[in-house]
This record gives sequence, C-alpha cells and structure tokens, in this order.
Amino acid sequence: MNFPKLFVLSSVAGGGKSTLIQKLREKHPEILFSVSCTTRSPRPGDKEGITYHFLSKEEFEKGISESAFLEWALVHDQYYGTPAKFVEDAFSVGSSVIMDIDVQGAGIVRSKLPGKVVTIFILPPNDAEWERRLRGRGTDSEENIVKRIKNGKLELERQNEFDHKIVNDDLDTALETLEKIIFSNLKESQETNFRNDSR
Ligand code: ADP
Ligand code: 5GP
Repeated sequence: MNFPKLFVLSSVAGGGKSTLIQKLREKHPEILFSVSCTTRSPRPGDKEGITYHFLSKEEFEKGISESAFLEWALVHDQYYGTPAKFVEDAFSVGSSVIMDIDVQGAGIVRSKLPGKVVTIFILPPNDAEWERRLRGRGTDSEENIVKRIKNGKLELERQNEFDHKIVNDDLDTALETLEKIIFSNLKESQETNFRNDSR
C-alpha cells in the first residue's frame, strides 16, 4: 500500500520550477505532474495537455462554478487552476503528485489536504541572476517581465510559509535537494502509516 503525497513547488517566475520538475520527472516518472488549466496564451514551447490545459475565460469560469478546481487563483491577471479530479484519481491509485502553482494556490492546497501536502519554495540565487534567467528564457514580453518581477517581490515575502526552501544556483545540486525532500517525505509517510495500521 502506498501513502501518496502532493508536492507543491512555488517560486517567483523564472525561479526554475518548470526546469526542476521536468528533470525530476525524467528520473522519476512515477511521480505524476498535475497539468494546470489557464486562460493565458500559449508561449513558445507550451503544449496543450502537457504544459497546461488552455481554456477560454468562459470555460474557466464554468469550471469554477462547477467546483472543478482543487484551487484556483488570478496570477499576472490570468486565471490558473488545478483540476481536482486529477489529484483525486492519482491518490486513489496511490500515486504521488507534483505541481507548479503560485503562493496563493499553495496555501489553499495545504489547508484543503492537511497532512498530505509538502510545500517547497524555489529561490533564484540572487536578483541579477533571476532577471538574467527570466529574460534569457525569451518567452515573455518586456511588459510581462516587469509585471513578473513586481509580483515576484511580493511572492518572495511569503517564502517562510513553505515547509522547505531550495536555492536554485547549480541545477544538479538543486535537483538533488528536491529528490531528498521528496523521498524522505515518502519514506516517512510509509513508516507513519504502517505504524498506525499495525496498532
Ligand atoms: P519557472 O518555471 O520557475 O518560471 P524556469 O524553469 O522556466 O522557471 O526557469 C527560468 C529560466 O532559467 C529557464 O530559461 C531555465 O532554463 C533557466 N534555469 C533554471 N534553472 C537554472 C539553473 N540552475 N542555472 C541556470 N539556468 C537555469
Ligand atoms: P506561467 O504563466 O509562467 O506558466 O505561470 C505563472 C504562475 O502561475 C506561476 O507562479 C505558476 O506557479 C502559477 N500557476 C501555474 N499553474 C497554477 C495553478 O494551477 N494554480 C495556481 N494557483 N497557480 C498556478
């Protein structure tokens, strides 16, 4: 029997969440990625159903009214939300899930699934490198970059609400730290639940 967990990664835009999740999934495909819904336009490299489910504003609002989202938020003026059914289905077959959501969503998920959620905040090594990576990604307009840096400063203020923080300086080291957090939590979850079951 598995005792799955939900691993929530948040950071400022350009902190490295997508890169770390992609690397983790290459090594550990058994940890499922929760594909969010969004009303933002696809960027180069986005793939429908793989990076996001791209919805119209009307479709997203219908989802809200039907309680289809475990959580949702307005981020950078666009809707983003986690489909509730995906997490329910994964948990029902004992699979752990990783997701990339903003700090508002992380707080909601933590309060909705107590004991099942591990929150991790990814930090860029410094401001200059953060901006360099955000611009270097080449996916955002200058207007968007300015908006993301402004929002990012507010998000950084909430980093202490998270269970763990990882400074994403060297990518391999950051990945190793993420793996340690995930697998030590899964081990602990197994041990605690086995102990409780055998009482
Ligand atoms: P996020 O998903 O948090 O917005 P990304 O994963 O898209 O961030 O990373 C932003 C940019 O920084 C990407 O171009 C990515 O390749 C680069 N990047 C991520 N981590 C590192 C790292 N440790 N060293 C150098 N570049 C990195
Ligand atoms: P991006 O547009 O760069 O892919 O994502 C912008 C922000 O939205 C990031 O902070 C990302 O973590 C967040 N985000 C992505 N999916 C979700 C979601 O389902 N819910 C919430 N609350 N935030 C999300």
